[in-house]
Amino acid sequence: MQVQFLICDSCFWCASTLADRAVVGRCPCCGADAIESIPVAAGERYRFDYNMQSGVTLEFA
Ligand SMILES: [Zn+2]
Repeated sequence: MQVQFLICDSCFWCASTLADRAVVGRCPCCGADAIESIPVAAGERYRFDYNMQSGVTLEFA
């Protein structure tokens, strides 16, 4: 089973899912069709940060 990190390019709503396929077509927060899916390996850690100037930063460790 693959862990997916989901993020909306429009409003930056995010979630994690264990589904093999994308289960979210539209953003449940803003309704935009702008969900990006990023696979995350088992045991992989990442840090999510956001600010108005640089936007979203994902840091994988
Ligand atoms: Zn959104």
